[in-house]
Amino acid sequence: MSIAELREQLKLGNISARELVDQKLSRIKQVDGKLNAFLEVTSERARKDAKRIDDARAAGDPLPPLAGIPIAIKDNLCTKGIKTTCSSRMLEHFVPPYESTVTEKLWQSGAVLLGKTNLDEFAMGSSTETSAFGATSNPWNTTRVPGGSSGGSAAAVAAGECIAALGSDTGGSIRQPASFCGVVGLKPTYGLVSRWGLVAFASSLDQVGPFTNSVADTAEILQVIAGSDPRDSTSLKVTVPSFTDSLGKSVAGLRIGLIKECFDQKGLSSEVKNSVLAAADLLESLGAELVEVSCPRFNDGIATYYVIAPSEASANLARYDGVKYGYRTQQSGSLEAMTTKSRTEGFGSEVKRRILIGTYALSAGYVDAYYKKAQKVRTLIRQDFENAFTKADILLTPTAPTTAFKVGSHSEDPVSMYLSDLLTIPANLAGLPAISLPCGFDQSGLPVGLQLIANVLKESSLLQVAHQYEKAADVMTNKPKSQFIP
Ligand code: GLN
Repeated sequence: MSIAELREQLKLGNISARELVDQKLSRIKQVDGKLNAFLEVTSERARKDAKRIDDARAAGDPLPPLAGIPIAIKDNLCTKGIKTTCSSRMLEHFVPPYESTVTEKLWQSGAVLLGKTNLDEFAMGSSTETSAFGATSNPWNTTRVPGGSSGGSAAAVAAGECIAALGSDTGGSIRQPASFCGVVGLKPTYGLVSRWGLVAFASSLDQVGPFTNSVADTAEILQVIAGSDPRDSTSLKVTVPSFTDSLGKSVAGLRIGLIKECFDQKGLSSEVKNSVLAAADLLESLGAELVEVSCPRFNDGIATYYVIAPSEASANLARYDGVKYGYRTQQSGSLEAMTTKSRTEGFGSEVKRRILIGTYALSAGYVDAYYKKAQKVRTLIRQDFENAFTKADILLTPTAPTTAFKVGSHSEDPVSMYLSDLLTIPANLAGLPAISLPCGFDQSGLPVGLQLIANVLKESSLLQVAHQYEKAADVMTNKPKSQFIP
């Protein structure tokens, strides 16, 4: 059932919030041993939240829009009084004294916290394998990764362990796992959603967004979490439109731009390519006009990102010094020795790699050659998009070059792992909203993701096109069941 249907059933009293929570808790019990999507399940809190909703309904009080909807939260979003670990030894015992703005908004809208989900350590990765607390598996085939870094949230939604989840997307961490797990994932326009209480990775790129089973549900969650926040200085001061209003509008007359550079990638699987091109054809049959556009620097995104993101990360992660909060070594000597040992023991190797790259790129002798150069290329990439949007309303690409890869297959080679974000990173560099939604399956039964990218603050048209495609394609009706966890 969609969020709108559940809202109706709860209102009519055909289902209670408590029943919904219990259903999800038993599903977690049934499958999470295999998936490891959750780092912590907050059963007691969920039952308490649900009771409040059921009591309010019994008393005849009006119910807020997400009343009783069980939601899972990526474990890099601060939840007051509930551990927020970023899947790192560094924050293994960190209990935030405050609530992030996005989660606060969810609870105020009646949503129920089910638990915190697994991620790559500090959201650095594309497979959820760098978590200090064990990897997450893909529900479609447990020998495959769920994608990353928000792999726990994507897997939890795909496996029916929750109705929706939040993730964060710095270079693709919502869209790529959504694509690998066959769910919908949205990265909003930079600044539309508050980052306050999101543990910072790369502040100029990070954005929070939803995972759901449908585009309409994504619109519902975005409606609640979007909006300006005085506690986040990068938050945009804009009035939030109604995202559900435009969903029903036809795509007739809209120009859909296929980014040329994305389709002649060496690493692009032919099955992915064919599925995505078939999706474009379907949009054309619905009345959209297909145009080819060029973003000549699109493929430079990855090199640009892997200078800018680690640079910002190295600055953001300097706060973990073993003093204020976070892990502190047992073997403290001098202040310097204590800091060094705490960081050596607290961070995993991917995080250390990023800190080293970032510190190098920002160091006095190299800042012009690397960091400043990367910033210039970032501007060029944004200009390419601006040009493309004079010819098209929405851009279309695959979300990832392949379907979910095998556990361990990229772990020894960081660059091959980085390449899986080739198609998602440019939208982060340009601050654009982008969505991934299922558009088919490969021969082994794994979902393929279609990415749609819109101009700044054009979420309504993005969701409209995605919804119209989803309705016409009806991808999940013919889903292969063979390997999906029962
Ligand atoms: N996979 C990318 C990285 O490791 C993106 C991660 C993200 O979006 N958080 O940096």
